[in-house]
Amino acid sequence: MDYSLSEEQLALQDSFRKFCENEIKPNAELLDQSDYETGFKILRENMKKLAEFGYSGLFHEEKYGGTARDMITQSVAQEELAKVCASTYLSIGASVGLCGIPIALFGTDEQKDKYLPKLISTEMVGAFGLTEPNAGSDAISISTTAEKKGDKWILNGTKMFITNGPIADIVVVMAKTDKDGQKGRNVSSFIVEKGTKGFSAGKPLDKMGYRGSPTSELIFDDCEIPSENLLGVENEGFIQAMQTLEYGRIGMAMVTLGISMACMEESIKYAKERHQFGKPIGRFQMTGFKLADMKTLTDVSRLLIYKAGWLKDNNDPSAATMASIAKLTASEASTQISSWAVQIHGGYGYIKEYLVERLYRDAKLGDIGEGTSEIQRVLIARDVLQKY
Ligand SMILES: Cc1cc2nc3c(=O)[nH]c(=O)nc-3n(C[C@H](O)[C@H](O)[C@H](O)COP(=O)(O)OP(=O)(O)OC[C@H]3O[C@@H](n4cnc5c(N)ncnc54)[C@H](O)[C@@H]3O)c2cc1C
Repeated sequence: MDYSLSEEQLALQDSFRKFCENEIKPNAELLDQSDYETGFKILRENMKKLAEFGYSGLFHEEKYGGTARDMITQSVAQEELAKVCASTYLSIGASVGLCGIPIALFGTDEQKDKYLPKLISTEMVGAFGLTEPNAGSDAISISTTAEKKGDKWILNGTKMFITNGPIADIVVVMAKTDKDGQKGRNVSSFIVEKGTKGFSAGKPLDKMGYRGSPTSELIFDDCEIPSENLLGVENEGFIQAMQTLEYGRIGMAMVTLGISMACMEESIKYAKERHQFGKPIGRFQMTGFKLADMKTLTDVSRLLIYKAGWLKDNNDPSAATMASIAKLTASEASTQISSWAVQIHGGYGYIKEYLVERLYRDAKLGDIGEGTSEIQRVLIARDVLQKY
């Protein structure tokens, strides 16, 4: 077993870290604080720059404009972006990942040719619509329907909390196609383009964190799409969504690790600078122990994320559970670490001028998005009860 990164991975880490520091970080605070219109411009500009650097291509095949890197190389880059701007990370991830990956895995050649190059270049923004107002954790119970009429599908229903909802040019959406069918075998995935009659997005939701990444409802009201927009095999949409979420969970684990790393770096800096009782606060054992736990938890999270990625690259069947383990560990670590980071900063940590205030707000999504911590535990428990 070799824990070292290759020369190529180290070179990417170094150059992408500089790129993120110079091009993305300077606008991250403004993106978080902006109104929707200004935020949208900054986010689109960030996405374009990331595409030009080659970040969005890391996740897709060369014939569509990507570079198809292994998941550990992807993770090395993802951590750098997550550290400087979680909102940009989430939006570009929802576009090339949650939307692009199911197209890459299950799409026809025509669908891949039509959409993947534009998602990778960020000319198009993508979204993924599974959650509904009454079906979040219980995603198998969605009620959006798609009915076949001649050579068209007619979609009706509402999706909730959709990342990039207000700005998406295309959305991969799950809908029930067999109302009497067995749960999990009665849903299909569809590609819906912006501008399609009967398809609209709600107002951007006013969120606690990730304020630079727009989220909204998506509404389908007798929305008519051509039959060729069915993604993959009819009635396999739920299975496709779960396979996509394996990647999504590793991605969510990575953004929470990036947030934790930023918290740790800010806390170490502050613990050396801030003096109370005549000495730097880092010299108080209770501060030092928090820094020690931050280092321990971030290292553990990274090892689990790399392991989940490695298993996925090797088509190992245990990858799904390892993705849940990595996501659960990294996200709960991040919620704790961001809280410690605010604590170490004292009253200043509660003020927007200090970065840890935003990191604390952003961290919490990790326990909720891509399946809550409770659902990760349900999945891990189911797996161990079967295996051991
Ligand atoms: C900012 C943001 C972005 C998002 N982006 C997307 C997106 O792009 N696409 C998309 O499809 N969805 C997206 N989501 C939705 C997200 O995946 C859901 O919010 C999440 O799966 C939880 O669903 P819910 O909010 O309906 O909570 P619920 O399912 O109602 O859960 C409420 C509480 O009950 C607990 N609970 C539920 N069932 C169980 C159980 N069986 N055992 C124990 N506890 C349980 C949960 O863990 C939670 O604590 C996003 C959400 C947010 C907040």
